[in-house]
Amino acid sequence: MATIFSATEPDEGSEEGGARGVDLEKIERGVRLILEGVGEDAERAGLQRTPRRVAEMYAELTAGMREDPSEHVQPLPGDRHDEMVIVKEIHFASLCEHHLAPFVGKCHIAYIPKEGRIVGLSKLARLVESFARRLQVQERLTSEIADTLFEGLKPVGVMVVMEAEHTCMTIRGVKKPGAVTITSAIRGGFRKDSRTRAEAMALIREK
Ligand SMILES: [Zn+2]
Repeated sequence: MATIFSATEPDEGSEEGGARGVDLEKIERGVRLILEGVGEDAERAGLQRTPRRVAEMYAELTAGMREDPSEHVQPLPGDRHDEMVIVKEIHFASLCEHHLAPFVGKCHIAYIPKEGRIVGLSKLARLVESFARRLQVQERLTSEIADTLFEGLKPVGVMVVMEAEHTCMTIRGVKKPGAVTITSAIRGGFRKDSRTRAEAMALIREK
């Protein structure tokens, strides 16, 4: 019997903005150059606070770079659950490292605990956010979540599936709105056992 959780509500997240350790002034200078580069008047009223806002936004969108994601993978004490756990639809937003354009989507995590080691559901959302909030490619993001979970929880197996829309593909370049990129990372028992893998996949796909 698998336990399935839907994380349709975004986690409380890191409201502090993650600006500690970020050189906001440096980003502001860069944004001013972009404004001038595209032929804007950086001093006009509507743009005066834009460099600061963009700097703060990038601080927030890269906040994961300045934290340790493995902190979110501490096993809960005293639990003995050893059946498959699935957490679906963890919403995330990340930044593609090739264009600094957002890619946005959902992450699904399945794992089979070993010796009762499970992790709190909100911690899984924090783990995803921690890796998403940095300059990423979706393939690496998916592997990093799977690896950290596999190392921290030492479960029988882990499967991470991510589906996302990349704005660098949908609003520019090839302009394919609605194109969804799906990646997966499979560790441990899920690799060998195609039936368990298929079961997890079916439960993830089930609406
Ligand atoms: Zn891109």
